[in-house]
Amino acid sequence: MPDPTSPADVLEIVTVACLTDNYAYLVKAPGTAGRVAVVDAPEAGPIIAALEARGWQPQELLITHHHHDHVGAIAALRDRYGCTVYGPAAEADKIAAQGAPLDVELAPGETGGEGLARWQVIAVPGHTLGHIAFHYPEGAALFTADSLMALGCGRLFEGTPAMMWDSLSRLMELPEETLVYSGHEYTSGNAAFALSIDPDNAALRARAAEIAAKREKNEPTVPASLALEKATNPFLRAGSADLRAQLGLDGVEDAAVFAHIRAAKDRF
Ligand code: ZN
Ligand code: FE
Repeated sequence: MPDPTSPADVLEIVTVACLTDNYAYLVKAPGTAGRVAVVDAPEAGPIIAALEARGWQPQELLITHHHHDHVGAIAALRDRYGCTVYGPAAEADKIAAQGAPLDVELAPGETGGEGLARWQVIAVPGHTLGHIAFHYPEGAALFTADSLMALGCGRLFEGTPAMMWDSLSRLMELPEETLVYSGHEYTSGNAAFALSIDPDNAALRARAAEIAAKREKNEPTVPASLALEKATNPFLRAGSADLRAQLGLDGVEDAAVFAHIRAAKDRF
């Protein structure tokens, strides 16, 4: 019997607030028997509560990078659900060193899941060297953690600006309707910075107003479409003529414009 409350053609995605400002996500394939994945493992309590509230049992845990606020609950979730833990091969040692080794080490381009819940690994180095994003091409969802973020991008703890620009450029080639789910609620601060360098961008001003309204009600500002990110996120606009002109960087290479914006954000 098909379940009338579960549309057959969309992924069900639940945003789970963890720790101070982290997000984990539950991703469920359509239908009552649909498989469930958890993206990142910041904190066991809220993730388990969100799963229990829906009667869901995850089969997969998808890890984006080695930072503790993304891997801290791996052991608790695997012990409880017996789920298979996938993560970046390039950071497997650093994750294992935190007491919870991956079950499956992923290289860029590898895929898993099936149907609407099929995902593909995209390399997005910059924040960390082995950071990966999980793209659901059929489900039109993209889990970016600390690479591309709502109106921002992650700090460059391990990689270079050129590396991050390359990563963001790869994500910008995905279909514009793709919904982007990032790893933290940093959007208000990101909006303030974005407005400071791109004050005449009407789409950005409208988005900043929406963000303020959401945060007022303590609602998450994720996800946003890739189209909206491309129109409003200053880090994705490093190649755009109008922002470049505003920054006095005409004729400068895209990656260098990106580096300039990233450095300005670090000082903001
Ligand atoms: Zn991180
Ligand atoms: Fe993080």
